[in-house]
Amino acid sequence: MKTLGLIGGMSWESTAIYYHHLNEIVRERLGGLHSAKLLLWSFDFAEIADRQHEGDWQGAAALLADAARRLEDGGAEGLLICTNTMHRMADEVQAAVSVPLIHIADATAGVMKRAGASKPALLATGFTMEQDFYKGRLAKKHGMAPVVPDAEGRAMVHRVIYDELCKGIVTGESKDAYIAEVAKIRRANDIDSVIMGCTEITMLVGQDDFDIPVFDTTRIHAEAAVDFALN
Ligand code: GLU
Repeated sequence: MKTLGLIGGMSWESTAIYYHHLNEIVRERLGGLHSAKLLLWSFDFAEIADRQHEGDWQGAAALLADAARRLEDGGAEGLLICTNTMHRMADEVQAAVSVPLIHIADATAGVMKRAGASKPALLATGFTMEQDFYKGRLAKKHGMAPVVPDAEGRAMVHRVIYDELCKGIVTGESKDAYIAEVAKIRRANDIDSVIMGCTEITMLVGQDDFDIPVFDTTRIHAEAAVDFALN
């Protein structure tokens, strides 16, 4: 089994879910007392979120590249950035190391293709919904046509992520708001699925809340990492 390097803490609420998934999936596949071999670099998320909201993506990229190098030096054989948003600097992180970076959007697109989905609603941080690094990759590399909420919907989805989920707060009101947002997108667009494109959204909603396929990027990324580790 290869050793995985996790660039996490963004937020730690979702990194904890990654840790659980990775170990659970290895146990499911290998049985007995097997668990994942991994190293974790866990950021103080306030330092990252400040840079995001100031638009200091270069500063954030330098921090992530440094973490990637430390993980490689420590023995990691493949890396995961445990957030969709910070894949904005996936190229900088990959350039800093010689081990592969397992990209969350590529893993998600692979599962979507196998499920026959191509026009998803994308729920994520404002950065992921508005900038091109994620939607563009889904479109250009994978032929997907992601649809994002309108400005009001994007603000609500973003606020719930930073003000609630990243602080461990899960409310019925926000769950209803996410479900209503998908229904709204669906009335105006011919979507065939939902991407939970933020690694904390799995704390709030899941497949049981929708009658179209839902792609949980946290779980999908963890599955792809275990595929890599066991191959
Ligand atoms: N974990 C979230 C994501 O998947 C948001 C927090 C962050 O900006 O990293 O995008």
